[in-house]
Amino acid sequence: MAAAAAAAARGAWGGRRRLALGLPRRAGAPWVASAAASSSSAVPTTKLFIDGKFVESKTTEWIDIHNPATNEVVARVPKATPSEMEAAVASCKKAFWNWSETSVLSRQQIFLRYQQLIKDNLKEISKLITFEQGKTLADAEGDVFRGLQVVEHACSVTSLILGETMPSITKDMDTYTYRLPLGVCAGIAPFNFPAMIPLWMFPMAMVCGNTFLMKPSERVPGALMFLAKLFQDAGAPDGTLNIIHGQHEAVNFICDHPDIRAISFVGSNQAGEYIYERGSRNGKRVQANMGAKNHGVVMPDANKENTLNQLVGAAFGAAGQRCMALSTAILVGEAQKWLPELVERAKNLRVNAGDQPGADLGPLISPQAKERVCHLIEKGVKEGASLLLDGRNIKVKGYENGNFVGPTILANVKPNMTCYKEEIFGPVLVVLEADTLDDAIKMVNNNPYGNGTAIFTTNGATARKYSHLVDVGQVGVNVPIPVPLPMFSFTGSRASFRGDTNFYGKQGVQFYTQLKTIISQWKEEDATVTKPAVVMPTMGN
Ligand code: NAD
Repeated sequence: MAAAAAAAARGAWGGRRRLALGLPRRAGAPWVASAAASSSSAVPTTKLFIDGKFVESKTTEWIDIHNPATNEVVARVPKATPSEMEAAVASCKKAFWNWSETSVLSRQQIFLRYQQLIKDNLKEISKLITFEQGKTLADAEGDVFRGLQVVEHACSVTSLILGETMPSITKDMDTYTYRLPLGVCAGIAPFNFPAMIPLWMFPMAMVCGNTFLMKPSERVPGALMFLAKLFQDAGAPDGTLNIIHGQHEAVNFICDHPDIRAISFVGSNQAGEYIYERGSRNGKRVQANMGAKNHGVVMPDANKENTLNQLVGAAFGAAGQRCMALSTAILVGEAQKWLPELVERAKNLRVNAGDQPGADLGPLISPQAKERVCHLIEKGVKEGASLLLDGRNIKVKGYENGNFVGPTILANVKPNMTCYKEEIFGPVLVVLEADTLDDAIKMVNNNPYGNGTAIFTTNGATARKYSHLVDVGQVGVNVPIPVPLPMFSFTGSRASFRGDTNFYGKQGVQFYTQLKTIISQWKEEDATVTKPAVVMPTMGN
């Protein structure tokens, strides 16, 4: 296959399976321009990826990327210029025809090679995530791994993309459907999963035959650049994936460009609502996964040991910067007595830079994020919550400038308090109380978000009743973070989602394809009666 030959001919990177990044400098990575090469910057800069090449931006506007554990500026990312963004879309558009006409088996082969390259480089990608995003190395590996699973699932495209057939719908007439790609699609990603969320987007879209424009979070672009290089090494033809960087102008460009047919967005409600409205108004398909307030309902019959460990892990892991973090506990009846033990377990978590051995949670993404989290804790106290564990003044030895907040627990929280109404997105567990399961269900359903929830119980009937009546898109039964594997879809609902079709799984394929229906009639009486051709056919016969 031509693409494979091209991949093999791509010099040192094409031939190598693994790249050792000399962190923190990342010297030698093809998407990084060294400080010396970049006239405008004293730190390395991140390139754009346009038409199969990593290119330096000609912009005059740069955004600093900080290591959240130290707040040092470690790189810069450009705000791509309008002509660079145009070039990226033009490249996607030019590549679309060939890519969509490439056989599905050839596309599948590229993704089969890609998943292996991601596996081979998983640890290196994870180091880069920890460096730019702050999460622990183990958690960063989970970030890449959950994205890798989507790529693996994309390899089953030959089953996923099947159309439907109804023979003999009437005499001599058959109906069948094809699933066809849309054209150029685009993705806008958040900072908290630098690998997983881009991998929710472009692999599913591209295996279906679309070309793709990605805009990663301007705070953590490195993992996506690494993934793009591996994709090229796997044989992806030039122009099938393009990457631009930037903030609002880049987002507006994507929402408005007439050649972009669909937008996948993951991030906050503020940005998601805006992108959904603006993109839809311009006639695009938009799917937007947004913020959350995920409740864990603890029944008194639950397995106490498991439940407390799961609550603590799911509330404070990744410093609470997960859309599926279990940030709210509702203790039902006698389970309210477990609160002191919950606090003790949370105290035992180790806060440190993500690359330090034994770290359970790392820093928040920015000083502004830390300030916001601390402000919401303070507001909670002012509004009457009890601060049982306060992580605001934590000092991490050797990382005194990092954006650390330790595990924090606010109890006696009521639904009208700001710390309950707003997504905190930090290591803060807010605890409410309920007398009965029915009261707990009412509370969860009154909250506008519908991303995820969990119930902890040993009673199957209680679990069934909760799963059935709770109006939340993803429900865990004794599973604190119920993120579905990619053969299912990510089905957040209500204020956590805008759009009709969800990310990945069957829904993902539906989002990135359109149906064409063929109704054909071949009348039996027109069937030509021929003799078997036994002579070698010659041209012109
Ligand atoms: P964010 O909304 O600030 O940024 C996401 C993307 O949108 C970025 O690429 C950014 O450049 C762009 N953006 C930011 N503000 C914008 C604006 N006002 N207008 C247009 N574009 C804008 O989100 P974040 O802080 O990077 O990520 C955290 C949020 O993402 C949390 O709310 C979290 O719950 C949510 N999230 C949701 C899911 C999910 O699947 N539901 C998954 C991960 C994260």
